[in-house]
Amino acid sequence: MWSPHGYLRINDPAMPQDAPIHMVDLKGQYAHIQKDIDQAVLDVIRSGAFIQGPAVKGFTKALSDWLGSTEADPVHVVPCANGTDALQAALMALGLQPGDEVITPSFTYIATVEVIQLLRLTPVMVDVDPRTFTMDPMAVEAAITPHTKAILPVHLYGQCADMTALNRLAADHGLFVIEDTAQAIGSTWKMEAGDSEGMMAGTMGTIGTTSFFPSKNLGAYGDGGACFTRDAALAERLRMICNHGSRQRYEHEMIGMNSRLDSIQAAILGVKLPQLHGYNAARRDAADRYDALFKEEALVETPFRHLRSHHVFHQYTLVLGSVGDGAERRDAVAAHLTQLGIPFGIYYPKPIHSQGAFMGLGLAKPDLPVTEDLTRRVISLPMHTELSDAHTLKVAKAVREALLS
Ligand SMILES: *Cc1c(COP(=O)(O)O)cnc(C)c1O
Repeated sequence: MWSPHGYLRINDPAMPQDAPIHMVDLKGQYAHIQKDIDQAVLDVIRSGAFIQGPAVKGFTKALSDWLGSTEADPVHVVPCANGTDALQAALMALGLQPGDEVITPSFTYIATVEVIQLLRLTPVMVDVDPRTFTMDPMAVEAAITPHTKAILPVHLYGQCADMTALNRLAADHGLFVIEDTAQAIGSTWKMEAGDSEGMMAGTMGTIGTTSFFPSKNLGAYGDGGACFTRDAALAERLRMICNHGSRQRYEHEMIGMNSRLDSIQAAILGVKLPQLHGYNAARRDAADRYDALFKEEALVETPFRHLRSHHVFHQYTLVLGSVGDGAERRDAVAAHLTQLGIPFGIYYPKPIHSQGAFMGLGLAKPDLPVTEDLTRRVISLPMHTELSDAHTLKVAKAVREALLS
């Protein structure tokens, strides 16, 4: 369990051994920062500056610094209303036109592909790497056509897609790269194998997008999102798009959206941002404990950690059993966890290309065996900043019991 003073471990008297296990524990996390959060929210209410106020400017600047922005190499942050809008604004800012193809995974949350379709662009869904669950660069290369304009990788579960390979493909074929960083803020990727430090997720492509949905690694107490870019002109376009295509009041140069981060959420995020490295460390610590508990278990594949990426464990996701029996194994584990009152998640139970929303659109039905297989075999265990040793022990024990029977 994370605290501002370090880790409160198994014998923390404040954490009873039989404390209920949550999938995410926002209340428990809030308890550590309550005074600062309450004050920050009150300050906004008393200021009356609810939209585009100083809290938004302050947080925007703090996040850009946190992402490693320097005067010589700035990272521009454009806040908006949620992570889905961030993706939409990114596609709009790049000036993509109906019919332009965007290569993206099918093993992701609906938002990634939804916005491509919403703008009448053509989503081309490709398979993921079976170890990392992120977009397979070879599949991307095979999917490139003269209509391809952008690649939209998702840094799934908190680990970066292979940005070295994807950026190289993009450079070779003149494509934009949009990084969906909704699950991976604070994750890094080493561009060269020998690099001593990685680059921040969301700052390597043409535009990065993120979400501040409450359960994300940097969560607000409501909706929020942002775009990142190193391109000042693109940042300006993104700012306009998120504000009705306007730079100057009642002058609208382009069609935009009404998508703003509100001041109360910005103030909350401003309190949480300095804790984010600690929060991610607490998630990694919980993941290490799970890994150790599953070490001897042959029927469980624990999350693969790419040497080049710093995994921030938005989810701790297991792959169960084998291709032949994985679905059955997952049913057994899910049933046992449910019976014991232990929460779990299945991200995602159905590939996006099989969703009803994508039927009848004339999209080519892709053949994505890895994606299909993962949707049947993955299960995500409770993962948050307040997970005690007793929690991980209880969860792992329950998973193992279900696999034995
Ligand atoms: C959460 C999420 C989004 C959307 O973010 P919202 O803030 O909920 O709109 C997009 N992509 C991925 C991969 C996500 O996990």
